[in-house]
Amino acid sequence: MEFSSKLLERAVNEMAQLPGIGKRTALRLVLHLLKQPKEQTEQLTSALLSMRGEIKFCKKCHNISDVEVCEICANPSRDASLICVVEDIRDVMALENTGMFKGLYHVLGGKISPIDGVGPSQLNISSLVEKVKSGTVKEIIFALSSTMEGDTTNFYIYKQIKEYGVITSAIARGIAIGDELEYADEVTLGRSLMHRIPFENSLKNM
Ligand SMILES: [Zn+2]
Repeated sequence: MEFSSKLLERAVNEMAQLPGIGKRTALRLVLHLLKQPKEQTEQLTSALLSMRGEIKFCKKCHNISDVEVCEICANPSRDASLICVVEDIRDVMALENTGMFKGLYHVLGGKISPIDGVGPSQLNISSLVEKVKSGTVKEIIFALSSTMEGDTTNFYIYKQIKEYGVITSAIARGIAIGDELEYADEVTLGRSLMHRIPFENSLKNM
């Protein structure tokens, strides 16, 4: 792609770094911004900079938050003895949308994936084990997507916590193998949560 302006080229190249945005789309977006009032670009860049600079991770569940302890963890009406283990904030949003879960979450920040170079130490696993060790947790619900990486991650955590006598369960799979949680509809997801099965039983499907 030949550019008549270095400034334009730089903006397009930066935009094209984003996932799912090719050079052509990047050019279209940049030209769109160029046609809009300058304030729109200022608002966009200021929103992105504030988000990147000021956002926090809840020190209890690792969910993305504006404050030290997220709204869910800080809510006294939530059941702190019930912890739902999820991959990232999109899963928290999907499960919250069902309105059927009254426990707390633990956000791992990914799945164990040797191919992508993600090992257990790069995920928020040790803080989950610590939570279980502290004796305040009755049940751990695994709600990772049922991909090979999700199953591997569940099993890794299960091995770390089973000796502490906590109940472990997995959300029922009305959701087809390989489906990501965020795409499941709210009713199906809510039902999967309510009809969760003992984790040991979910292993038979592996
Ligand atoms: Zn939290």
